[in-house]
Amino acid sequence: MTDESPPTDGDPSGAPSASEGIPPGIRSIKDLIDRVTGRHLGPISAEGDSGLAEQWPYPFLALVGQMEMKLGLLLALVNPAIGGVLLIGPRGTGKTTAVRSLIDLLPSVRQSKCHYGCTEEDAETGGIEALCPNCAEKYAKGEPLSSLRPVRLVELPLNARLEDVVGSVDERAAVHNRMRIRRGILSHADRNLLYVDEVNLLGDEVVDAILDAAAQGSFTVRRGAVTATYRSRFTLVGTMNPEEGRLRPQILDRFGLRLLVRGLEAQDERLEAYRRARAYITNPKQVVAAFVEETILARDEIEAARALLPQVTLPDEVAKIGLDLIRGLGIDSLRAEITLFEAARALAAADARSKATPDDIRQVAPMALRLRRSAFMDQYFDDQRGEEAEIAGALAALPSGPPAVAPPKKKSVPRKKQAKKG
Ligand SMILES: [Zn+2]
Repeated sequence: MTDESPPTDGDPSGAPSASEGIPPGIRSIKDLIDRVTGRHLGPISAEGDSGLAEQWPYPFLALVGQMEMKLGLLLALVNPAIGGVLLIGPRGTGKTTAVRSLIDLLPSVRQSKCHYGCTEEDAETGGIEALCPNCAEKYAKGEPLSSLRPVRLVELPLNARLEDVVGSVDERAAVHNRMRIRRGILSHADRNLLYVDEVNLLGDEVVDAILDAAAQGSFTVRRGAVTATYRSRFTLVGTMNPEEGRLRPQILDRFGLRLLVRGLEAQDERLEAYRRARAYITNPKQVVAAFVEETILARDEIEAARALLPQVTLPDEVAKIGLDLIRGLGIDSLRAEITLFEAARALAAADARSKATPDDIRQVAPMALRLRRSAFMDQYFDDQRGEEAEIAGALAALPSGPPAVAPPKKKSVPRKKQAKKG
């Protein structure tokens, strides 16, 4: 089926710790992307075509090129604290395909089994009162309220009304607080991925509601004196084509990583993208099958990286490089640091390391820091050229290579002075 199948040692899907089951030569998610990107699809038969393409999402790893887009999306899966991802680019560059193709890579998290979204966590923080009567009964019996399920991709329809998004309160259903909530998209997005296509074309009130929920991790709906609150912790993934409209600066600020998605430049890449797209239209199932092995590997890698993430540290000297970079670029928003550092930690975790390095900062800096100063979306690409060069310049000015672990300076001068005073 393929002219070069990747070398595999044993059964990659069997190993719970993915980093151990990885074929030789593949050290991390990045290696995997690199390898698969350069692969050529073999002949695809038109026979045995089993139905609609929608049933077989285009494999993420089959996307040609677009390294930054792929890396950014995977980092957001590894570490939700990055604060979401915005894909910026013209039409036809594969933004939507890329987001939808994440489906096969999504890790598992604990999710409520109940229509009202009750979880054990609610009971622990708010007592049994915080559960719907049905779940309260289950909880009392020691039955689970949640189960481990793959993160879902919840797509916000373009024509969504505010009510569809935030849900509503049913005043008559006053029996129990939980049962007053008619769940909206934001509630369904809890612990999932919320995908907003054309985020720059959404109505202000819908965008504000989404950003409120994203910032708080919950949303409160009010009707008269009745209020109800539900959890809404999601990873926000947005796409936009700047040709079609501006994005308010305060909205842009809420997106962690900003990925510029341009058309493929290399001719061989364009040709390969065309071949894969044609193969997929002819026989989606076969294209999916051609990438299934690496897809399973990548999903295991993401799970392993998520498990490792809490132990990944950001040494002070690495943080300082990031802070210097942000100061040098004149960025005000504190979200810049959060995204930069969390993305660097995610990259370290994806590489099976427990410490972020200056090189991690270098790799994620353009994604985390671009478009942080620009207040006017009109000047997107004009501004961008200058800023990109500036980031590159600032990066080039950093000491090169891995850090020669400098002896830590235990006490800084001002501290000594303070100590003497006291
Ligand atoms: Zn319930």
